[in-house]
Amino acid sequence: MKMFDPHIHMTSRTTDDYQAMADAGIVAVIEPAFWLGQPRTHAGSFEDYFLSLVGWERFRASQFGIKHFCTMGMNPKEANQTELADAVLALLPTYLEKEGVVGVGEIGYDDMTPGEDRVFRRQIELAIDAELPILIHTPHRDKLRGTERTIAVLKEMGAKPERVLIDHNTEETLPLTLDGGYWAGHSIYPKTKMDEPRMVALVQRYGSERMIINSAADWGVSDPLKVPKTVKAMLEAGISEAAVETIVWHNPVQFFAQSGRLTGIEVEPRIDQRQLFEGNSVLRGQTPRVES
Ligand SMILES: [Zn+2]
Repeated sequence: MKMFDPHIHMTSRTTDDYQAMADAGIVAVIEPAFWLGQPRTHAGSFEDYFLSLVGWERFRASQFGIKHFCTMGMNPKEANQTELADAVLALLPTYLEKEGVVGVGEIGYDDMTPGEDRVFRRQIELAIDAELPILIHTPHRDKLRGTERTIAVLKEMGAKPERVLIDHNTEETLPLTLDGGYWAGHSIYPKTKMDEPRMVALVQRYGSERMIINSAADWGVSDPLKVPKTVKAMLEAGISEAAVETIVWHNPVQFFAQSGRLTGIEVEPRIDQRQLFEGNSVLRGQTPRVES
């Protein structure tokens, strides 16, 4: 089964991860712009990060046969420094036009501060102007209230539910997300927030329509193989192959295809490790692998 991990921060992961993901059937990923574990102090740091998402990281993925797309945005964790946030917001329109940028995200609330609110609203406007789908980060603390407020703001700003993916859902928030007509993302973590058995139960109860799963793997305790592991758990629990394929392939493809930029997604990847990115390869002198 072809699998899509539509939320993973590959910048923080190793080439072993890429190889293991490809071996497990993952053929495409989306890397949302997010924070890096500590606040950046210059807009230029964001710009170089955005450039790496459409440059080096996309190349690295290609070297293991994985299609890499990204979403661009100013994350809520760094939205409270007004001057810096304004400088990043000014950069965003240029980066939202780039090839392979399939949405605005991940955006939303962390602590629900006035600064977060301002940056969130401005980016909803940018997404509507750029005609791009929106990827929403819901807060990990006070998640229900954060999700309610997110939905209220999305409605107020006129964002169409079918163009919004609300991520990091739990049992508590999923009914709100689905009832609102939004797409529902679930991040499967090793120990917290959501795991394979709970995800199986959610699919058994709510079905596969508008349901999406991801690993949200990054620099923290996380697992880049959570999509294939959850696929296995769903199949073992008797969920039909068609429903599982809808969740891990057709749904993310359908959602992000609304950007008009999910190009080449159905094309079988071809690995050619003789390729270079600006003169550099990932090989460190190894013999390049070339597959036809
Ligand atoms: Zn994330």
